[in-house]
Amino acid sequence: MNEITKQIEARFLELGVKVETGEIDTMLDQLINKFKVPAEEARRNVTNHFLKKHNIPKTEFFTPRAAPQVKAADIKEDGKWITLRCKVVQLWETNHESLSQNGLLGDESGTIAFKKWTKANLPQVEEGKNYIFKNVATSLWQGRFSVSLNKTSEIIPITEDIKVGKTLVEFHGAIVDIQSGSGLIKRCPECNRALIKGACGEHGKVDGIYDLRVKAVMDDGEKVQDILMNREVTEAFTGITLDKAKEMATEALDQAVVLDVIKSRLVGRYYVVTGAKLDRFILVDTIKQDVKPIEEDIKRILAATAVEA
Ligand SMILES: [Zn+2]
Repeated sequence: MNEITKQIEARFLELGVKVETGEIDTMLDQLINKFKVPAEEARRNVTNHFLKKHNIPKTEFFTPRAAPQVKAADIKEDGKWITLRCKVVQLWETNHESLSQNGLLGDESGTIAFKKWTKANLPQVEEGKNYIFKNVATSLWQGRFSVSLNKTSEIIPITEDIKVGKTLVEFHGAIVDIQSGSGLIKRCPECNRALIKGACGEHGKVDGIYDLRVKAVMDDGEKVQDILMNREVTEAFTGITLDKAKEMATEALDQAVVLDVIKSRLVGRYYVVTGAKLDRFILVDTIKQDVKPIEEDIKRILAATAVEA
């Protein structure tokens, strides 16, 4: 049997596919001996033929066995196979069934968004836990890098607690919207995802755990910025504790009452927020009323009355 045949057979076996060696031999023999195709080109032709036949994406076949380990902030190229040592900083809701999990990973250098495809059949990761993500592919979409976890990727839990480097930012602007999924919400006890109509996208109908959060949109007149307040920040800022929110919901027989109250208090007012920039969100550490626009309003009103007088 031809050496190239052996190599092709071995590589396909690693992907769990048994390719008929006789078929490989025959094809190679034809290409090399009959059509005088160079050996390496013949290898590529035959490989591609079987990839197509068995419906295997090329990227999967040509993955290097051990992709180099890099830092999250150093990802600057599209379509590279890399290995990351990261903490799962945040899991986001997935509303697409092809996507099993997505969210944010972080290491000492910073953070990077990730997508884990359902087809990859990989174990679930948990927020706050640390892992080695082996053989993940970098991708660039709308100017932002992310990594995707697919069939050839591996997730190895580690006990080490990775300190995630943050880039702190400040944003001044008006809160222009409070998004649905804010206020009193319920989370899945298994995976911490926010429930939609009492059900988790992954675990179905579950007995949810109450939580409080605010997802808001700010606008500084030039650009909009999504902000996210966790329970602690929401409680301190709105003065509505989780217990109070539950009371309000019980009295009104409607969980949405909490969202309505938060909306009426925050929308249209100016704030300064500081926090870590994570993908499109600022995870709010501090939020306070921005007095500058008010001072400017007062000055303008005073100036106008001075002219009239
Ligand atoms: Zn769940």
